[in-house]
Amino acid sequence: MAVIENAKVTVVGAGAVGSATAYAMLIRSSARQVVLYDIDRARVEAEALDLAHGAMFLGAGTVTGTSDIDRTVGSHVIVVTAGAAQRPGQTRLELIETNARIFRTMIPQLVAASPRAIVIVVTNPCDVLTMLAVEQTGIDPARLFASGCVLDTSRLRWAIAQRACVDARSVHANIAGEHGDSQLPLWSSATIGPVPIAEWEPAFDDDELDRIAHGVRTAAYAIIEGKGATNYAIGLAGTRVAEAVLRDERAILPVSTVLQGDYGIDGVALSIPSVVGSAGAVPIPHVRLADREREQLEASARTLAETAAAVRATL
Ligand code: NAD
Repeated sequence: MAVIENAKVTVVGAGAVGSATAYAMLIRSSARQVVLYDIDRARVEAEALDLAHGAMFLGAGTVTGTSDIDRTVGSHVIVVTAGAAQRPGQTRLELIETNARIFRTMIPQLVAASPRAIVIVVTNPCDVLTMLAVEQTGIDPARLFASGCVLDTSRLRWAIAQRACVDARSVHANIAGEHGDSQLPLWSSATIGPVPIAEWEPAFDDDELDRIAHGVRTAAYAIIEGKGATNYAIGLAGTRVAEAVLRDERAILPVSTVLQGDYGIDGVALSIPSVVGSAGAVPIPHVRLADREREQLEASARTLAETAAAVRATL
């Protein structure tokens, strides 16, 4: 495995999230070529043109907008943000069914065009869609996984950093489980610099930790209420995961892979701190969990397994 030079990344979906992802990739010089692919040709061409017009202020990376899947051929990384957004009156399960149907045709086409690509699923519900896509394509779970709780973890580190008056990058704490309501903070292994969070002064009491976890869990609802979508931070999160792959960083990030027996969980995708490099993502099998965290992780796995079973029955 090696660092990928002159990398080509396809971002699938040119909506709020896909465009923000392409923007983050260009300003961070994450890849040499960014291909933005969407079935909405007018939209994708307009977004790509707008991004390309920043050329004078960017590195050597290029951006192309297309609705022709052949233009994605040979991508090293594919970040999937395409899907239907929730319509008024539509249930969450109905939205999942719609996106699962989109994925059933779209993922095999993308993988056929770029058989060596690492695929990062951002579209929600990202854990369930990852499970179904791995089942359907038979692809190695290390090579098709979700951004999962990487965004939630950044939200958590930001909230702790604000309170502790330190840089968010000096906070080491993770959200695990579902990218959704059954997620859990791994407080037992959280540190601020080298100091376990339980020993930080002035102390965080249990109510404060619960408030922080609640704020992280419900952040998306609050942002969507105000501006209709979340996009900038997820654009950075998806870009960060793609960079770990392209640069073969072996960075530890809480992405969501289909577990294969680790933590007593089999066939369910959920977030666990994982090693991410050019071969994809491999969950760390021995993260220390407090008893309560283990119970919450198992409950999260049950919730995801039930949702996946309900969707499988409709496909
Ligand atoms: P959006 O509606 O703005 O954009 C979705 C785009 O997908 C549209 O441009 C649409 O044309 C395109 N699309 C639909 N079907 C397609 C297909 N078959 N092939 C190619 N393109 C197709 O939505 P958004 O706000 O960008 O959100 C995208 C997804 O990202 C949603 O599922 C959202 O829930 C998810 N999201 C995930 C996270 C996370 O942390 N995992 C965070 C924020 C948003």
